[in-house]
Amino acid sequence: MNTNKPICVTGASGFIAAHIVEQLLSKGYQVRGTVRNADNRQKYQYLYDLDRTNKRLELVSANLLEAEGFKSAVAGCEYIIHTASPYALNVKDPKKDLLDPAVNGTRFLLEAAMNCSEIKRIVLTSSVAAITDSPSGDKVLTESDWNSKSSLKRNPYYYSKTAAEQEAWRIVKTEKPLFDLVVINPFVVIGPSYTPKLNTSNQILVDILTGQYPGIMNLTWGMVDVRDVAKAHILAMENEGASGRYLCANRTITMKNLVELLSNLEPNNSQVPKFNLISRPGNLLIRFASYFQPLGVGSYLRTHIGKELKFDNGKIKRELGIKFIDLEKSIRDTIADLKKWQHLPN
Ligand code: NAP
Repeated sequence: MNTNKPICVTGASGFIAAHIVEQLLSKGYQVRGTVRNADNRQKYQYLYDLDRTNKRLELVSANLLEAEGFKSAVAGCEYIIHTASPYALNVKDPKKDLLDPAVNGTRFLLEAAMNCSEIKRIVLTSSVAAITDSPSGDKVLTESDWNSKSSLKRNPYYYSKTAAEQEAWRIVKTEKPLFDLVVINPFVVIGPSYTPKLNTSNQILVDILTGQYPGIMNLTWGMVDVRDVAKAHILAMENEGASGRYLCANRTITMKNLVELLSNLEPNNSQVPKFNLISRPGNLLIRFASYFQPLGVGSYLRTHIGKELKFDNGKIKRELGIKFIDLEKSIRDTIADLKKWQHLPN
């Protein structure tokens, strides 16, 4: 792909987006990142530091709740990578804090893009949350699955991601814009961070290593390295044949195996959970306790405890050529980085 036009990356300040920005800059692209308040240069210095040439990164202001910023952000671009969306499990008001910014922001962005005839493709960061909110037994999840269960009361973050992705596909279907839409659906994204803020998914490792879990639960996560997720977005942009959705996950790991791995990597850590809650009574106990948790965590536990997780990541490997970073390496690199940012004690 050869373009001298800037690639617009929305939510450039984010954990995943900062890696996208870094990889785009290393490949020689010009980048126009959107952040909430570009005037606050100091806040985004970690992004400017990624631009070693000092002239290929521009930051502009855009808020997901306002259409205006996106109009100028996408002007003159051919490609957009839309990552901005609130990522939090626990919020005060799920509609105001999750659903509205996710859906309205996606609509504002696509509407702005429809007014620019040069735009060829939008790559949207969706989530496996838009594929399922409750894995079930033998079902192997693929790109053709849709989460039909979440709501403002049940896994509201999942609901916001599903509704935002559906809104994007609806607009493409009904408005038939000149650009096409390609969607990346990552699972739990871990890895080193360019941003000082602790990401919700890296928080899982911090919580295990700082004794926040009462015991080892019957939970399974699908994990993927942030560097692979960023690469997938760029390949989806560059590869003309890319189309539809791409489930972006390396492999599953149970909490039991993750705790074992973390204990081996951090042998002096005495806070990793030891009490085994993997049993039918253990699952029941967690379900009961989940009702005393905030809505986001509570409904996550009720919909995931004791559930087996299977998915097919063949499409992204076949069509985009992604070779996933070994999960143990991702975890090792994440821990080193969490210590660097002092999210974990050294
Ligand atoms: P993140 O670091 O929290 O990034 C979220 C980005 O969205 C930030 O740049 C944030 O800006 C921006 N944002 C949120 N609300 C906004 C608003 N009202 N107006 C403008 N910008 C707003 O989380 P992330 O993990 O990198 O997430 C990036 C994308 O990946 C999201 O769409 C998320 O749903 C998706 N995803 C993440 C994971 C994961 O495990 N991390 C998995 C699947 C999908 P501020 O920095 O100013 O808040």
